[in-house]
Amino acid sequence: MKYLVLIPDGLADWKCQELGNRTPLEYASPENMNYLAKESICGIAKTIPDGFEPGSDIANLTILGIDPRKHYTGRGPIEALSMGVPGKIFFRCNLVFVEKGIMIDYSGNRIGDTEAKEAFRILESEKPFEFVHFHHGVTFRGILSFSKNLGKIPATHAPHDIMGQRIEEYLPERNELGEILIRLMEWSEEILQRIGSRANMIWPWSGGKRPEFPDFRKKYGLSASMISEVDLMRGIGKGLGMNTVEVEGMTAYIDTNYRGIARAVLKELRKRDFVLLHTEGIDEVGHEGDAVKKVEAILMYDEKILGYLLDRIDLDETKILLIPDHPTPVRLRTHTSEPVPFAIKNDRKDDVKKFSESECKKGKLGLIDGLNLMKILLGR
Ligand SMILES: [Zn+2]
Repeated sequence: MKYLVLIPDGLADWKCQELGNRTPLEYASPENMNYLAKESICGIAKTIPDGFEPGSDIANLTILGIDPRKHYTGRGPIEALSMGVPGKIFFRCNLVFVEKGIMIDYSGNRIGDTEAKEAFRILESEKPFEFVHFHHGVTFRGILSFSKNLGKIPATHAPHDIMGQRIEEYLPERNELGEILIRLMEWSEEILQRIGSRANMIWPWSGGKRPEFPDFRKKYGLSASMISEVDLMRGIGKGLGMNTVEVEGMTAYIDTNYRGIARAVLKELRKRDFVLLHTEGIDEVGHEGDAVKKVEAILMYDEKILGYLLDRIDLDETKILLIPDHPTPVRLRTHTSEPVPFAIKNDRKDDVKKFSESECKKGKLGLIDGLNLMKILLGR
């Protein structure tokens, strides 16, 4: 038996006035998702445990049966895993642009990749503490790692959440490590100004210790691949010991290489027992706040990914779970924590005939804890 988990990021939504008081999913009524729901047992699942931010990292860990309450240490550590950064403590580290004490741009005045790489190189070569390390990722993104433990992890704020606000009120919590972060931030202002960078400060956030994830194969006895368009997901995949796959032409948007991605899924399914596909496009248009575009994005996914796969997979030999990780309501343009609709195609069926928020809710499984999805999929 093979197992396929399809996660269109941010697919679930609220009812939209501009769509006749229907959700984008209800309005789109995608043929292949509906077919899958008809052949499946359905329900809605809580993927964000109480007290957690509705992020893809938390939701996807839950879907994979890994309890974030036990295993999640922050976004910085997961991105560090994905980049293969060594160390004991990790923070996401943005290059930002601050003017008169106000956070103007979390992406460093739109600093380019080459300039950001050079800025990180100089920060690393002139750093005031030998136990800190700067690692560049993509454009304004990087990781600040510590090669030794320094007490409690300070609370921090994501720079995109404090745009237009006074940074003074959002500096790291002032414990031992927090004081070091603040010193590094002040020091970075001098360095970045001296080299004439478009960005003028570093902003460390979402710090934590290296997470201890269980090994997926040991936990479930299955060889596994993850195909994803983003580092955050690949970090989770690597942390769980899964094979992680990138596909040429992936854009993490609706213009992504659908055909290449769908082919990669088929290829991985031939080689391994379990394949997870996580795609970004639908979530991105949710952030743009455009309901009509979200409907189009859903229909594209339905045809180019799901339809393509359903035509080519041996459905008797493959169990499938279709589930968004979290809602991204176009009205809010950000993520929410409500339970998401899901369909599991194994040996059981219910009366649900359409894949949507309201229909799946009537499914036989009702509301479940997302941590139980894997057990149901695997029939254990
Ligand atoms: Zn998102």
